[in-house]
This record gives sequence, structure tokens and C-alpha cells, in this order.
Amino acid sequence: MAAIAYEDIARAPKALLHDHLDGGLRPQTIIELADGIGHPLPSTDAGELGRWFVAAAASGSLERYLETFDHTVAVMQTAEALRRVAAECALDLAADGVVYAEVRFAPEQHLERGLSLDEVVEAVLAGFADGVAEAARAGRPIRIGTLLTAMRHAARSQEIAELAVRHRDTGVVGFDIAGAEAGFPPTRHLDAFEYLQRENFHFTIHAGEAFGLPSIWQAIQWCGADRLGHGVRIVDDIAAAEPDGRPALGRLAAYVRDKRIPLELCPSSNVQTGAATSIAEHPIGLLRDLRFRVTVNTDNRLMSGTSMTREMALLVEAFDYGWTELQWFTINAMKSAFIPFDERLAIIDDIIKPGYAVLRS
Ligand SMILES: [Zn+2]
Repeated sequence: MAAIAYEDIARAPKALLHDHLDGGLRPQTIIELADGIGHPLPSTDAGELGRWFVAAAASGSLERYLETFDHTVAVMQTAEALRRVAAECALDLAADGVVYAEVRFAPEQHLERGLSLDEVVEAVLAGFADGVAEAARAGRPIRIGTLLTAMRHAARSQEIAELAVRHRDTGVVGFDIAGAEAGFPPTRHLDAFEYLQRENFHFTIHAGEAFGLPSIWQAIQWCGADRLGHGVRIVDDIAAAEPDGRPALGRLAAYVRDKRIPLELCPSSNVQTGAATSIAEHPIGLLRDLRFRVTVNTDNRLMSGTSMTREMALLVEAFDYGWTELQWFTINAMKSAFIPFDERLAIIDDIIKPGYAVLRS
């Protein structure tokens, strides 16, 4: 079978669970917003600035990668800016053929110019609503669920968890913690996770990206995470082929697979930060073969110069995947979404399956 064309992947309905709002701005928007507040940028040419972000993020360390966020976060400090960035995010995802996306951001990082946590959330939700409405008018319907992130090195997780629950009926569907893993175990935020569980709320945890199995184990067995943000290092608990040729799963890997715990894998992001050496050698190949609940995600579209279409195209190229695998990733993501079960099912049955059926025929 000939490889699937990029344009066809662009047309396919896609579902995205792991995308950062402050990692997906349009370069031109950064330039305009920075100009308005006098924030200096490495370049004021949109093309050049876009390339700067990708290069800086590809330097090989997670810490350096996180530095690029100083610029995006700096221009996201007013309600107008947040609303614009969120609207453009929805439009860009819809234009890429994404039909369902969970986009996350950390409200505590947007308080520098006097906004309250609630005002930050309200501005972003308003922006998503703007973008979703405009995309629908353009014939590209998309649904967006918002996740609120707490920074793992900070001490506001309980406050952010309560903020998420407060906005659960107006678009916030889950909670997350993010930031440098080393030295900041998720168990520092146990109170927040226990609160969320008592509230019957959903959460994912960035774990097993740069750091290995202990981080994943804590996220699941101590914190009770519904999903793993990345989780790619679970491969460290899978031994090379036994004499019979089948890889052996350790107890944690077996648990993650048995419980169908979703892995929010982000191939290009991992290659950029050095968590994987190349797309072809990315553990997603093995994890898919072993039928973990694998999902494909963008992480930071600006820093990785990527999109859902591009991530899927890279996997098609590296692993020779066809529509069967792309549909499987998409349904995995939709099954693992934090919106209600009946709404997930409706998107799978009414949009995803018919969309792939057309492309296969
Ligand atoms: Zn992430």
C-alpha cells in the first residue's frame, strides 16, 4: 500500500489530549502582543521568530526547552491577549482537522499584570468559545476541553485544583501538573489530587518524560492519575525480547497496560528534548505493538514546529502506519478524553469512524 498522503492526514478527523496553550501561539501574534507591551523578542520577523523557537527548543535539554516559554507567557498577561491566543488556538487546531482537543495552561503564570486566577480562566474559555464558533462557521467544527495545569515546582496546586472544579460546568474538564520533573515529585501535590478525587474530577500528570519509572509509579499509585502526560519512559519497564521473542513487561508496565491507562505520547517533543533519539526509534512503535493505550499528541506546536497532521505523518513515514493505526490512535484519544462518556462515543461514532471510512474507501 502506498504511504498515506499528507493532505489526506490533514483531512482525517483527529483527537488531541496534550497541547499547551502557551506552546502554540502564532509567531505573528507574539510579535503584535509583544509590541503592545514593549517586550523584547529574539526577532520581529514571524518566519524567523518561528524558527528561533524551534531551534531553542531543540537544544536537547528540558530546562532550555522551558525557557522558550518566557516569551509566550510574557505576552499572555491580559484578558484580551489570553482571549485572542485561545481563539487562534481553536482555529488553528480546527484548520488542522482536529475535531476534539484538550488544551491546557497554567493560570498561575498569567497573573503578572493584575488578573485574578478566575479572570484568567474566564478569558481563555471566552477565547475558545470565540474560536470554536468561528471554526464552525467555516465548516470546521471542533470541540475543546480545557485543562488547568499547576506548576510542579510551585505550591499552588490545591488552589488550582479548586479553580478547575469551580469552572467544571463551563468548559474546564480536567487538571494537570507540569514543569521540570527532577526534584519535584508529584507526591508534593497529594492534597490537590485527593481533593480532585473526592470531587469526582479528572486529572493527568506529566510523568515519565525526562524522568523514569518512579515518576510514573507515583503519578498512578500515589496520586491516582487518570492518564500519563508523556509516560514514554514506561518502556524502561519492558525488557528486551525473551527467548520466545516476546518482550517481557515488568509489574508497572503490565499494570499500565492492563488498566488501559492512556499515554499522552508526544513524539516530536520527545525528540527535541532528548527523551527519544528519533521518531523511528521512539518507543511509540513498541508501545503500539504491545497495545498500550497509546495516543498521539503535539505538546507544543510552536516550539516543535508541528501539528497533529505532521505528528501523524512522521509516524506514517517512520513506522509505515496506515489508516488502521491512525484511526486506532484517534479512537484511543477519544476514549481517554475527560468529557462525558456519551459525548465521547458520539464523536467516535458520528465523526471519527465515518471520517476514516471515507478516507479508506
Ligand atoms: Zn506537556
